[in-house]
Amino acid sequence: MQPDPMPARPCGVYIHVPFCRKACHYCDFHFSTSTTLRNGMVGAILQEMALTPGTGGHVAETVYFGGGTPSLLPTSDIERLLAGVASILPIAPGAEVTLEANPDDIDAGRLSEWKAVGIGRLSIGIQSFRDEDLIWMNRSHDARQALGAVEAAQAAGFSDISIDLIFGSPGLATEAWGANLDIALALGVPHLSCYALTVEAGTPLDVMVRRKKKASPDPERQAEQYLMLLERSAAAGYEAYEISNFCLPGRRSRHNSAYWKGIPYFGFGPSAHSFDGTHRRWNISSNAAYIEAIREGTIPFEAETLTREQRLNEYVMTALRTMEGIDLGHVAQAWGTGEADRLRNGVARQVDSGMALLAQDRIRLSREGRLFADGIAAELFR
Ligand code: SF4
Repeated sequence: MQPDPMPARPCGVYIHVPFCRKACHYCDFHFSTSTTLRNGMVGAILQEMALTPGTGGHVAETVYFGGGTPSLLPTSDIERLLAGVASILPIAPGAEVTLEANPDDIDAGRLSEWKAVGIGRLSIGIQSFRDEDLIWMNRSHDARQALGAVEAAQAAGFSDISIDLIFGSPGLATEAWGANLDIALALGVPHLSCYALTVEAGTPLDVMVRRKKKASPDPERQAEQYLMLLERSAAAGYEAYEISNFCLPGRRSRHNSAYWKGIPYFGFGPSAHSFDGTHRRWNISSNAAYIEAIREGTIPFEAETLTREQRLNEYVMTALRTMEGIDLGHVAQAWGTGEADRLRNGVARQVDSGMALLAQDRIRLSREGRLFADGIAAELFR
């Protein structure tokens, strides 16, 4: 009798589409506003898939088109890329297939094309429903397109929609943030990703802030707006399942949740990251150099092997951001009871000050503690 074949390992697939219509001033992702390399890029990503070792034995539970702005691609390219994924590993029936889309790319025609090629979930880069914020951010859409895009997606039958919003920009009063949030909540989309505006080094916003052409965000106002977000989203029935992510019951992003659980993923395209549980690799962040290397048959990446300590620190960092928190039982099993005890003792001060909670052998952040997640995690690092 033949032994049963090993069950396929679940994984995620990420495809980075490095083109944008305009450069949002706050953005530090890898993209180009020139689309001259678009055809070469799609071909190169397909070739990278074919060159990638180790996909055998995996099954894709999620596929995520991110960027950049993947909705800039013609639907035929999205279809080719999905076929490329299916040629190197099976895509599970019922897999979550997400396309990041900007409002100015969304209309009834595109929506029906996306559905036809297998896109089941849209992550719409709204950022704000107010023109003044969108102009300040240098977004390529306006407030009318923002609202119209979500309504059009719903009318086209997309029930799996996530909206991205940004709070805490200097011109956004807390009342105005509340109004933005109310619009998003009233739309009834199952998922929201809400981020505080940050000034990332090297971005146009960073330059403008340093030259005093733009104000920097006020941390107190950001905290006030984040607490408002927690209250209003909870009142509307959303669970804050991760610091920046909110969903109606049962509607978590499966792709991002897999990242936080340490499930392996394969990333394709310039700047895309991959992770197999121990090794992380990331592709070069240059469109031209990426295409050239792939044409020569080489994937241009750097890699690191995570040490036992690094893996623990990553777990602490990501788990603390989730509503489930750090599972000390899991820590004891994976890293030893000594590490679980170290974390239990290490968090005592934060528990006393009301920033963290220690119950059912888990460390979770309190409402206020969520404002200081990175600092609290750093205190718990090995
Ligand atoms: S559309 Fe997205 S990826 Fe492109 S510049 Fe704006 S924030 Fe960055």
